[in-house]
Amino acid sequence: MEFEAWWLILFPLCFGLGWLAARVDIRHLLANSKLLPRQYFEGLNHLLSERTDKAVEVFVDLARNHSETIELQFALGHLFRKKGEIERAIRMHQKLLSRPELKLYEKQSAQYELALDFMKAGLFDRAEELFGQLNDTDFARAARRHLLDIYQQEKEWIKAIETAQQLRDTSHTYQHEIAEFYCELATGAMTRSQPQEARQYLQQALAEHRKCVRANLLLGELAVSNGDYVAAIEAWLKIESQDHRFLPFAARKLLEAYDKLGKAEEGTALLKGFLSTYPELDMLDIVVERIGATESDAAAYEWLREELRRNPTMSGLLKLQDAQTKTSPPERRAELETMQRLTQEATRGLSMYHCASCGFKARQYFWRCPACNDWESFLPARGQTKA
Ligand SMILES: [Zn+2]
Repeated sequence: MEFEAWWLILFPLCFGLGWLAARVDIRHLLANSKLLPRQYFEGLNHLLSERTDKAVEVFVDLARNHSETIELQFALGHLFRKKGEIERAIRMHQKLLSRPELKLYEKQSAQYELALDFMKAGLFDRAEELFGQLNDTDFARAARRHLLDIYQQEKEWIKAIETAQQLRDTSHTYQHEIAEFYCELATGAMTRSQPQEARQYLQQALAEHRKCVRANLLLGELAVSNGDYVAAIEAWLKIESQDHRFLPFAARKLLEAYDKLGKAEEGTALLKGFLSTYPELDMLDIVVERIGATESDAAAYEWLREELRRNPTMSGLLKLQDAQTKTSPPERRAELETMQRLTQEATRGLSMYHCASCGFKARQYFWRCPACNDWESFLPARGQTKA
């Protein structure tokens, strides 16, 4: 009985306390909202209705009359930058920075925002200087990420490597990117005819990321320019254990190197062997061309028919039609060419490389996607859209 009586008292008590708390909250809210100028809500309303220009007008007016509202100045600066009014954003953030009453965190925040403005304006030197001053602050990591962007755009690969090394952690090792930066340095050295320097960079690329296919492709090219075809073949053959999907990138060069060594047949047999181990490799055209040149078009056609029986693909079919047209009597050619053209139109995407990150398509292979700037995001087989 005693237990039930307690409950009878407890229920109204809780209800009363809840009611009191709600009233206090509402009063607090009302008191606060009265402190905020009416224009604040007006501006907010414009912003929510995506009338950015109107919102800016209202907020600028508000900021002029209430210069103590630092948060508002920050929001406005951000809004200017978002709208592409970079000069206004810069002025707003510079004005903020010059205010002596700013707390340390606010000062750093203004500096970070100003650096972003400079970056968007393409004034990389000034952005770099400001981001650099944010080391050892809460903004350090975000600033470094932007610095990494700047160094890549400016092709300052040494600085990019240092910054990526500072940024690396368990969630992102940056090993792919750093190896690519070394490859960029190597290609630079190669165009300046500095093979020794290039080789060192490529070895550093492989030390950073032992599966860096691009480094082995370039090492092979370096060896060829030195007349060392054995070393070139050795470098390119390593691609099989790195990522066999990239073998077609070295296929043509491998054939040339074997030819130079007087081992043409060995080269052809090697590529045929790759295709029988990895039927999906994008190098049917290279082998067909090779058999056509060293044996005959008829032999190329026969080989292709066998390959297609083993591994039927659309790109294989296209090649077969091509070979068929070449070997058929003239009266059948027009008909075959029409079929070939129709297949080509229906499979247009098969001749393009795709970026797995953003879907960008290109006839040429890119180590860094020109659309989304991701490294090694292009898939190595034409027509392939998923990794
Ligand atoms: Zn992309």
